[in-house]
Amino acid sequence: MVEHNAEEFNDWCVSCGDFGILRSVELLIDEMKLDYRNLVMVSGIGCSGKGPHFVRHKISGVHTLHGRALAFAAGIKLSNPSLNVLVEAGDGDTFGIGAGHFVNAGRRNIDMTLIVHDNGVYGLTKGQASPTLHRGEKTKSLPKPNINDPINPIALALSVGYTFVARAFAYDVNGTKDLIKRAMQHKGMALVDILQPCPSYNDINTNEWYRKRVYNLDMDPVVKNIDEVPQKMGAAIARSFEWEEKIPIGVFYQNELVPTFEERLKENIPDYLENYPAIQKIEVNGDSTTVYDKLLKARKVA
Ligand code: SF4
Ligand code: MG
Repeated sequence: MVEHNAEEFNDWCVSCGDFGILRSVELLIDEMKLDYRNLVMVSGIGCSGKGPHFVRHKISGVHTLHGRALAFAAGIKLSNPSLNVLVEAGDGDTFGIGAGHFVNAGRRNIDMTLIVHDNGVYGLTKGQASPTLHRGEKTKSLPKPNINDPINPIALALSVGYTFVARAFAYDVNGTKDLIKRAMQHKGMALVDILQPCPSYNDINTNEWYRKRVYNLDMDPVVKNIDEVPQKMGAAIARSFEWEEKIPIGVFYQNELVPTFEERLKENIPDYLENYPAIQKIEVNGDSTTVYDKLLKARKVA
């Protein structure tokens, strides 16, 4: 694990929405009094992947592989469930190559947070259409209009088990900060999909385009009784498809009645939360105590 020092040169393009997300994260680190001892940021590949490097606080972080940030993050969280784990990834990263990890993180309901820099393009590689660009849109870097239908991140997250699902707008810094903070305080797997203008390659979904359309959701997203799930989830999915004229931002759905993966593990390993892998001794009197070595010894390999 790398301990970051905040002296990195920031090479994001001028006016990129990424700066709004970076500022939101820095504000919530201050508000939640987080640092390298209790916060780990995990990123994938893309412009978004540089986010943890640019945070001016001293935090812990891992810059991982394309699409694999959630898999790394799951390992970190399950080794040490006392940590706050914040995953920062792009839309191509998450819904393209990382789609399988995205789906399975939901059904496990691991207690961590994913924020997605959602700009409709692969910005780092010069603006190819990403899985969230709408069909028929021709950004300035595409030779012809996009022929694929988009993934709806909100509806997908809801259908695979995410228990906190929200959408933010990158230039609304305080609103984005509040949503990420709520996501991190939520018990379970949380998604904040952040509408992030990419002024270099997406000349359709610009800052001005979003500002004319975004509005705050006006519904109660919190499930208080398990019987409310079909109605609240149905309403959230329906609202998530509003796009051309009006685009809602805010919390679409929150359900803390679903057990987390850590709680499910505890049913099989009763002392898991007190004696998690990261604090277990790996050696006693020269003998390894890891499960892996015990298995090898049992098979007489080691
Ligand atoms: Fe931001 Fe787009 Fe530039 Fe990447 S390519 S830094 S997303 S403006
Ligand atoms: Mg992108």
